[in-house]
Amino acid sequence: MRSRSQYLREMGLIPWTLITDTRVIDQYVEPASNDLESPGKVSPSGWTSLQQQVRNCTRCNLHTTRKTTVFGEGNPKANWLLVGEAPGAEEDRQGLPFVGRAGQLLNRMLFSIGLARNDVFVANVLKCRPPDNRDPFGEEVSACESFLHQQVKFIQPKIILAMGRFAAQALLRTDQTIGQLRGRIHRYPAYDIPLVVTYHPAYLLRSPQSKAKAWADLILALAESERVAGGEDV
Ligand code: SF4
Repeated sequence: MRSRSQYLREMGLIPWTLITDTRVIDQYVEPASNDLESPGKVSPSGWTSLQQQVRNCTRCNLHTTRKTTVFGEGNPKANWLLVGEAPGAEEDRQGLPFVGRAGQLLNRMLFSIGLARNDVFVANVLKCRPPDNRDPFGEEVSACESFLHQQVKFIQPKIILAMGRFAAQALLRTDQTIGQLRGRIHRYPAYDIPLVVTYHPAYLLRSPQSKAKAWADLILALAESERVAGGEDV
């Protein structure tokens, strides 16, 4: 059984002392169930209806090439909403976001700040996989973005973590680079929710030298979420 310190070292990070408990890592890295618990801040019927709309969606051409839709996974009462770009091949096959090596790294990143997958909700801007993992087209984003918008409205997270350039640019409606967007608190325009930009776990697997920056992003997001939860933002 590995300790939290060992996982941080595997992320290329010097262990930090924010978390002092000794919870077992396995309970954190176990994938969250695809059976969403009844949402608390949301109308259960509205949430179920939204899931069904996504499942049956044919608004853009991606419905012709997908194996399955990927609605998102996790706790619909979560304070944290994590948003990536679009499903990859394995996500398309399983119908779940962030599986495989990138998903495992995401679990370790969450664990490093005391969170488990079941503590957050994870979604993508696009609910269907672009063929061959190409960049999404603008019309696909336009067709799909209302689903994510409704997810944000239902979940009412205290913090949104935009993972990767595409998600950050889509959520903030900007063409700024990830380097320009990192390191500060943005606001998700529609609902004025704090938003932090960080790297996509798949990028971190290719560029482990950026893990320290991702760690700094997580700490920024954690501090902001705790500030908001503490009522300083209301
Ligand atoms: Fe519908 Fe979004 Fe899938 Fe396009 S990507 S078919 S808009 S769910």
